[in-house]
This record gives sequence, structure tokens and C-alpha cells, in this order.
Amino acid sequence: MKIAIFGGGQLAMMMIQADHTKHHDYVIIDPSANPPASRYGKHIQTEYDDDDTLKRISDECDLATIDFENVPVEAMRELEKYIHVHPNSNALEICQDRLHEKNLFLDLGIRTTIFNKIDSLDNLNHSIENHKSYILKSRRFGYDGKNQYRIKPGDKIKTNLISQECILEELVDFESEVSLICVRSTKEEVLFYPLVENKHSDGILSISVCPSNYTDLQSDAEKIGNKLLMSMNYVGVLVIEFFVTRDKKLIANEMAPRVHNSGHWTIEGANISQFQAHIDAISGGIEKNQIISFKPSAMFNILSEFVAEDKLSLLKEKYNVHIHDYHKSQRKGRKLGHITCICDEYNKLSEDISTIKKILQ
Ligand code: AMP
Repeated sequence: MKIAIFGGGQLAMMMIQADHTKHHDYVIIDPSANPPASRYGKHIQTEYDDDDTLKRISDECDLATIDFENVPVEAMRELEKYIHVHPNSNALEICQDRLHEKNLFLDLGIRTTIFNKIDSLDNLNHSIENHKSYILKSRRFGYDGKNQYRIKPGDKIKTNLISQECILEELVDFESEVSLICVRSTKEEVLFYPLVENKHSDGILSISVCPSNYTDLQSDAEKIGNKLLMSMNYVGVLVIEFFVTRDKKLIANEMAPRVHNSGHWTIEGANISQFQAHIDAISGGIEKNQIISFKPSAMFNILSEFVAEDKLSLLKEKYNVHIHDYHKSQRKGRKLGHITCICDEYNKLSEDISTIKKILQ
């Protein structure tokens, strides 16, 4: 098949790399010059909603997918008239807007954060109760902690964020954060990965660990995953991010309608990577009754600047590590690569994580 990927970042790159047997051909649509995936497929450097490009994709490709969730929905709707688009444009529209996402959670009886829709400073001031802490988040274009503003009791509010449509969320006093990687194929087969435990720093994912300390919550998470996949008639990988409360309950925070940073460990840590699962699911090919097996794994994001050679050598010498370089230029907070450590013994995982963290500091 010929697959168009909208967005040519590292996620698209790893999708194409996962197609080991070169089963499919790939076209990458990305407005930037030399995005990571352009090394592996034909790159069309253009805006996502360029009419000529959409026409060309609908003529040349069998299906389209995304590595970037903020692709214009209208462009995907246009494409959908001619070829399959996975995930579909309705699912994309929901996942692009925190308010739509939260309303879907509520409609499906899924516990989510306590929130209010905010459209003016007056409205914001009225929604704040004196003794509570909040996060103001833009409804759209928020990722990696961007477009968020924290409000503590007594704070004087100073933010430009209010010029955009926002939601105001009560701060959750969570014990941990986990994500569920869900996969649904064109043949409606469904797969779940074990819950992954995630640590963030300044709103950006820094470490993902599988298995999590919350294996008892797997079946609750999968029930939620099933509801969301079915309600959106979703095809491909969908990732749901949860807070785990101190009384060990799940609160859905948000969804990513694509492969996700918290699933990068699956490349070496699972029998099928999230990238392969996504490509298989959208092109019709998940094997029936497939189950996910995995080895204890930890993924460390490389942000801002790449890890020095001597540290990499030390890691390679002492651990079973896999180093991924996205070949991107350095910039503060930018995701430049990741390192996955696979551990044969579960009991050694947390000790290895602490030592690797120290080496990477
Ligand atoms: P988000 O973009 O919603 O995933 O937020 C980025 C990170 O900010 C999350 O992974 C949490 O660590 C933190 N965060 C977001 N919303 C809340 C909340 N309502 N309560 C506590 N922490 C939050």
C-alpha cells in the first residue's frame, strides 16, 4: 500500500522504520525542511491543507495517517472523501480540543478532572475558589506542558493565555501518571499494551516505565480504552493519559490520537512495537488473537542537547540500552532522541533507572 503520513517528525520516522519488510511505500507531508522522517520516505514540503497536495495524495495513496495531531481537520475531511484516513477526522477533531475530549469522557461515564470552560477573564475570576489550585489550559495546541498556566490560592492572575479559548482544571493531587496504549484495526481487532508509568519534568515526559506499579488498574483502563475506541470508531493507535489518585483510581486527563512518546520503549521492549501495531492496524493486518508480551523496560527522553559520547559508552558497557537519535538540531526543551533500557529481571529495574538517571544528569 502507499501510505501518506501527515507530519514528518520522529513518530513518522519510527513508523516507517517499524515496517522492516518494506511492506508499504510512504509519502511524508510536512511544511518543514528535512524533518526526521524525510530520510526514510518521499517528502512533500508543503502546508498540510495545500489543495494540490491533497489532490495528489488522494490520487496516489491508499490511505493517510498522522504523526502530528494538529493537522487541519478540514484537510483530513477532504481526503476522507477519496481515501481511508486513520484515525478518522471526527476522532481527530475531538482529540484536538480539550473541551471536546473532556465532554466525551463525561458522556461515556469516564472519570476526568473537574473543569470549567473559560472564555473571558471575568469568567475565569468567577470560576476560581479561593482555597483551590488550578491549571488553566488552552483548549487547542497544548502539548508538552505548553499553553498552560498554574494558579495557586491567592495568586494575581497574569497570563495572555486567556486570549485563547481555555479550560480551567482543578489541580489533581495524584500519586502517579500512567498511559494506556490502545490499538484498533480496520477489522475491529483490539489490542492493549500494559499500563506505562510516566514521570514528567516541567510538563514534558522524561521517563516511561513498563510495567507500572499499577497492574491492578489494567482492566479498568482497558474498559475505558474500549469505550473510547468504539465511540469514535477509531482505527490505529490511541493513547490515553491518566492520573492515578492516592486511593488508586484512574482519572482520564487527555488522549493522543497517534503513537505516543510513552510507547517508545515498545520498539525493543515488546513483541510488537506501537509503531508496527499502528501501521498494521491501519493497513488491515493485526493478527487475530495477538497478545502483547514485553520485558521490563524504561525509556529516557533526551531533551535539549544530545548525551555526551562518554556517558553513552558507559551506559552501553553496563546496561542493555538502545540509543535513538532523531537527528534534530539542538534547542531548549526539544526532543532529540531517547534511550531505552531493557532489564531481564523486574527486581533490578528501579535500581537501574536510578543509576541511569544519575549518569544522564
Ligand atoms: P497535559 O498537557 O494535560 O498532559 O499536562 C502536562 C502535565 O501537567 C501532566 O502530565 C501533569 O504532570 C501536569 N498536569 C496537567 N493537568 C493537571 C492537573 N489537572 N492536575 C495536576 N497536574 C496536572
